[in-house]
Amino acid sequence: MEVQKAYKFRMFPDQQQQDYFWHNILANRYIYNIARLQKDHYYSRHRKQRSAVFDVAREFTILKAENDFVKKADSLSLIYSMRALDQAYVNFFEGRANFPKSRNKKHKSYVTYRLGIYIDEGFIKFPKVNKPVKTIFHRDFPEGAVLKSQTISTTGNNEWYISCQFECTEELFIKKEVKEETTIGIDVGIKDFAILSDGTKYDNNRYQEKSLKKLKRLQHELERRVAYSNGWYETRNKISALHSKIVHQRNDYQHKISTKIISNFDTVVREDLNIKGMLKNHHLARVISDAAWGMFFQKLQYKADWKGKNVIKVPQFVATTKPCSACGWKNDTITLKDRVWICEKCGTKHDRDINAAKNIKAYGLNIKYPELTGESTTVDNRQPLGAVDEAVNPALTGEKPVKKRARKSKVSGSSKVKSRRVST
Ligand SMILES: [Zn+2]
Repeated sequence: MEVQKAYKFRMFPDQQQQDYFWHNILANRYIYNIARLQKDHYYSRHRKQRSAVFDVAREFTILKAENDFVKKADSLSLIYSMRALDQAYVNFFEGRANFPKSRNKKHKSYVTYRLGIYIDEGFIKFPKVNKPVKTIFHRDFPEGAVLKSQTISTTGNNEWYISCQFECTEELFIKKEVKEETTIGIDVGIKDFAILSDGTKYDNNRYQEKSLKKLKRLQHELERRVAYSNGWYETRNKISALHSKIVHQRNDYQHKISTKIISNFDTVVREDLNIKGMLKNHHLARVISDAAWGMFFQKLQYKADWKGKNVIKVPQFVATTKPCSACGWKNDTITLKDRVWICEKCGTKHDRDINAAKNIKAYGLNIKYPELTGESTTVDNRQPLGAVDEAVNPALTGEKPVKKRARKSKVSGSSKVKSRRVST
């Protein structure tokens, strides 16, 4: 079954590109309102409907030739506006909507199609604009998705977005089966950022530690400064610059780890974050780590969603540190200092964190030892691929899917990014 979905991405247009977008919004608003008036007059005189696309289009061509303002706009978007107007009247006559109104100042978007979307390069090419527009593609389109139309919109504070509507078969949204050999358990910590049940450890990066020390020093410096003095502003700016540097470094690092984990495994089992523990402990490193884990889990989640993979959460009350992952014996005397311990029952030597990660994995696979109580979170096999940003009305698009399919860059061990173009 074909399903309609939409993903919304943030764009970063420069001034010239913003002017272009505004030009299109205004031209579309203008054309829509003029066509609506013509349809209205025609209806009041002849008591008959008239299609904006077919009947008004002739006048619209004349208008375009005469009007430089309209001529400079994206012509596909203007055609789309005509279609949307026709559909608005159809919806009204069939009792689904109110009588079509004029578009006013609040209408800050327009729809177009056939844009050149370059996911790996991170930009979109628009007609009549030389420079491509920088875009953050925080998610990939599912394989085999056919792009239908794109909505360009802006918010009050000058942020620009593009919502890409696409169609894909529902099979793409079915998740992978949970199997032992393709499942990994993840434990998170302060010393090591993430510890996997297969023994892999991801270091909590040194540069982050360095930045944290510097941040602490600057915060003390800010406290000593006279509020709102030049020196105070200087320190404050340094702090915000350092904050954004830390965020960027951490993001890069988390993207690398999460991409690797999701491409290597079909099911990821992780602990639910200990919110209570977080609130109790106000130590700077701890607070920042907590925030980092939350962001890391978010990345894992949406990357899993892209690829139809599973993320299983282990509830907080489940003990994952104490049980021996080999036999289930419970080590009640383990303390925070014990990095390595030996099981008294089976004699297995455990790395504390790897053992916890193994227990987390076991929980996810429903292999329950008496000590691992609580119900496992169920895996919803029919969960859609990420959130849908906007409802898509197929009638509005009125297009047949173009045969050209979104090509996928091959995911191999190397970090080489292949160029790929998605078009409508
Ligand atoms: Zn044991």
